Amino acid sequence: MQTTEPHHNDDHAPSALSQPSAGPDKLPGIRHVIAVASGKGGVGKSTVSVNLALALQQAGYRVGLLDADILGPSIPVMLGLPTGHQPETTADQRLVPAVRYGLKTISMAMLTGDDSPAILRGPMVGKYLQVFIGQVQWGQLDYLIFDFPPGTGDTQLTLAQSVPLSGAVVVTTPQDVSLKIARRGLRAFQTLNVTILGIVENMSTFTCPHCGKDTDIFRHGGGERMSLELGVPFLGAIPLDADIVTGGDEGHPIVAEKPNSVAAQAYVAIATELVGRLQGLPTTVLEAFNWAWDTNEGEPAWVESAVLPTGSPTTPIGFRRRDARTLSVLWEDGNRDDFDVRDLRLACPCAQCREEMSGRQLLDPKSVLQDVAPHTVSSRGNYAIMFGWNDGHSTGIYTYKHLRALAERFAGKDVEDV
Ligand code: ADP
Repeated sequence: MQTTEPHHNDDHAPSALSQPSAGPDKLPGIRHVIAVASGKGGVGKSTVSVNLALALQQAGYRVGLLDADILGPSIPVMLGLPTGHQPETTADQRLVPAVRYGLKTISMAMLTGDDSPAILRGPMVGKYLQVFIGQVQWGQLDYLIFDFPPGTGDTQLTLAQSVPLSGAVVVTTPQDVSLKIARRGLRAFQTLNVTILGIVENMSTFTCPHCGKDTDIFRHGGGERMSLELGVPFLGAIPLDADIVTGGDEGHPIVAEKPNSVAAQAYVAIATELVGRLQGLPTTVLEAFNWAWDTNEGEPAWVESAVLPTGSPTTPIGFRRRDARTLSVLWEDGNRDDFDVRDLRLACPCAQCREEMSGRQLLDPKSVLQDVAPHTVSSRGNYAIMFGWNDGHSTGIYTYKHLRALAERFAGKDVEDV
């Protein structure tokens, strides 16, 4: 597979004042950048970042971990990486991430040693972060987990605007005060149009390792209540567990070392939930298009590098005019379907051509010209395409789900939703 290098982000100097709607460029080769954030320090944000990254990696994804907790970088210790280990650089001055437990990792601690980050202030922090974002040789990643600095100050806002985030996971503990702070953080992200992927409640119930009894040391359920109140998803709760602390201190994260423990399973469940949410979200691989079929003007992209073995079967990552009568669709899971354009016209799902309730075809195939063809193909949001046909018809919305089901039906499989 072709490797795409991350680009330099020099054109996107951070500015807390720039327009949130403009959105930063995507990082080539990285499908999803996920911020792990919290309103304040000490809630277990870095521990969640590390174990979430490991859970995703164990599920077969290519994962990177960026420790942007610039004033207190703790991830190298949690992963058992030697502190003060300087990353290698490539000939063009890109940093090569350290690899541990299969995770590609870059942390401020690798550049400055253990204690000096605390003296960095303001603009210097921003400069270092720009290096991290634009000049690391990540290669192809499915997920880049971005451990944000705690809080909701300028550094965080700048970061959220200079990195193309798929969304943010907000970590909170169940105490009220922590919830209040997390809520503030959450609002800051929302103001910047960053999708909140969900809330993780950390240090929830304590299960006694001896008697198995559950105790809610810091209360329980606050994260879930907050998600309900604010209308954002709840991703799950992590129990309070002494093994999480020892694992973190000794460089043996619990998901890697005790994968069958209740706590490790809680991280895995959160990772699964997160993947589900991201699959539901539009991918940014394809831009909106309005494509003239005959001249090929406005042709959409065909992003083979976005194929994922675990990818969604109904997310297109490419459209192509194979010949005058064939439309090819490349799906994220790597399947390619070639549609005869007349077959597509016959399968028009609009109310004129198909009875809405029963799905019975109303369109008489004999009435459709043999040489019917589109003059335009255009995208609708991130869920469908529409055709302008040369017989004057143009009202059918072909959802991606419908298109994929059609392909299966044409291939002779028995699929109901066609
Ligand atoms: P933050 O990144 O929010 O500052 P850390 O991830 O560094 O927080 O965690 C702070 C401390 O809390 C660490 O000692 C860590 O081991 C501990 N910790 C994190 N999550 C849990 C948990 N679920 N149970 C017990 N201790 C935890």
